[in-house]
Amino acid sequence: MRAIVRSTPGTSLQMRKRADPSPGDAEIRVKISAGSTCRTGLHVVDAELPNIRCPVVPGHEIVGRVECAAVLPPEGSARA
Ligand SMILES: [Zn+2]
Repeated sequence: MRAIVRSTPGTSLQMRKRADPSPGDAEIRVKISAGSTCRTGLHVVDAELPNIRCPVVPGHEIVGRVECAAVLPPEGSARA
């Protein structure tokens, strides 16, 4: 997959290739069609918030389709 990444504080955003994530228990993987970032994401990019870990992929406002889903146990069954 591709992601826009800020690698270290004070550097510009860069398009990077990353491994496709595998959904864990009760998770899904979404193939994103469009994305954006909110003002908080811009504060992250501009290093205006404390304790931001790098690398960081800003933005969580997305449109997409569920591409892969973890297998869930039947409703009402016991989980390990
Ligand atoms: Zn936000």
